[in-house]
Amino acid sequence: AISNNNHHALLLVSPGIGHIIPALELAKRLVTHKIISKLTFFYGSIKTSTPSKAETQILQSAIKENLFDLIQLPPIDLSIHVSPHDTLETKLAIIMHEIPLLFMSTISTMNLNPTMIITDFFFSQVIPLAKNLNLPIFAFAPTNAWVIALSLQCPTLDKEIEGEYSIESKPISIPGCKSVHPLDLIPMLRDRTQRVYHEFVGVCEGAALADGIFVNTFHELEPKTLEALGSGHIITKVPVYPVGPLVRDQRGPNGSNEGKIGDVFEWLDKQEEESVVYVSLGSGYTMSFEEMKEMALGLELSGNKFVWSVRSPVTKAGTGNYFTAGEEGGIGTTLESNNEPSFPDEFYRIQTNGIVITDWAPQLDILKHPSIGGFVSHCGWNSLIESVSCGVPIIGLPLFAEQMMNATMLMEEVGNAIRVEVSPSTNMREELSKAIRKIMDTDDKEGCVMRERAKELKQLAERAWFHDSPSYLALSKITHSNGV
Ligand code: UDP
Repeated sequence: AISNNNHHALLLVSPGIGHIIPALELAKRLVTHKIISKLTFFYGSIKTSTPSKAETQILQSAIKENLFDLIQLPPIDLSIHVSPHDTLETKLAIIMHEIPLLFMSTISTMNLNPTMIITDFFFSQVIPLAKNLNLPIFAFAPTNAWVIALSLQCPTLDKEIEGEYSIESKPISIPGCKSVHPLDLIPMLRDRTQRVYHEFVGVCEGAALADGIFVNTFHELEPKTLEALGSGHIITKVPVYPVGPLVRDQRGPNGSNEGKIGDVFEWLDKQEEESVVYVSLGSGYTMSFEEMKEMALGLELSGNKFVWSVRSPVTKAGTGNYFTAGEEGGIGTTLESNNEPSFPDEFYRIQTNGIVITDWAPQLDILKHPSIGGFVSHCGWNSLIESVSCGVPIIGLPLFAEQMMNATMLMEEVGNAIRVEVSPSTNMREELSKAIRKIMDTDDKEGCVMRERAKELKQLAERAWFHDSPSYLALSKITHSNGV
């Protein structure tokens, strides 16, 4: 066996801020807690005209810290495989397939002498490819255990269930866990005629061959699911370890409007405790003009003070564009363009009651501020786990990917969130304002229970991560694998 101090891990990370942020945090903890002595961080990238400024800054600040080496894999040229109008899922299928191959060919030309590989769950197809290296291989899932339980059940569901899931289908059962309502299903799994479906089943088959899977959650958040996953036979034999919350402990890059960010905190300092909602739909979603109008009207109707982190709207339907910064509607265009952004009138009208940030927001610092009492979130897992860690209850507005499952889980199992239904038949401004009032109104009984639960979770989250804590010990298992 190699002593712990000689461990060198290669960590393979997906493009997209929602993957890079928690992976950097994982890498930092592995090294600073001396679980391993050396780590090389490989991040995939997409060939685009403009890289996302936020992503570049986050990576650059990690380089400055000098805790580990960062290596960018040769950028993938998506245009060879797909047209710009293809869906995010189609692009994802290419990325899931190509990056493991690229990683293998890149490391074969380097003299790295790794003792283990950790891959983003999305790239679990690297696990069978790397078998002949005879190293322990782990997957890191920057999501929750329920989503991983569904993923690990996928190859079985693929064999046992025929045809597509429709809205009328029965809930999808996962042994030992909460069932998944077909409406909440990850879009990748909805349509078996699509390449992404088969690619994702391949990913899940690959993950089942890992020596362990690390998930950004903690025991008290998902006790039942973690028990089902941990029992070693109900869903899969792979050990699944909760290593969360992996949340940054320092200020992130603030983009170019450093001065304005100062104003946000000055303004927050003047507000009453827990009286402000923070609104953000994540790093990659650009709202349509209409959606933005509804959001503004919903905030206005709620009468609540707010801090709104927003990108300039697009004229067509809103888009989630995580891997193609710089393309039309991508985060690169909205964060970096100097074109006059055109916002709906309602957006300007409501600003007497709040603050808007049109650049990268220091989300974690905002959530930590005592004036923040609720978070209107798209339910990306990083946002949720950050909100949990800060004790802030959530008004969930799930949009795509696994966000619907995340929202349902928090609302029905964890009890710190309310979900706003977004559909063409609902009156979004009305629903949003009702949900905000429920969470923020100190006289609302249900809201009160959710706020209390959020505070309780904050304490539990604090207990999950320090030396000898449950998540530290779970992560330390990385050096106890049979393979080493
Ligand atoms: N984030 C931020 N400022 C912004 C937008 C996002 O700091 O203006 C961070 C947020 O704190 C989180 C990540 O970006 O860590 C977004 O990840 P999440 O999983 O919530 O959503 P995604 O962007 O992947 O949809």
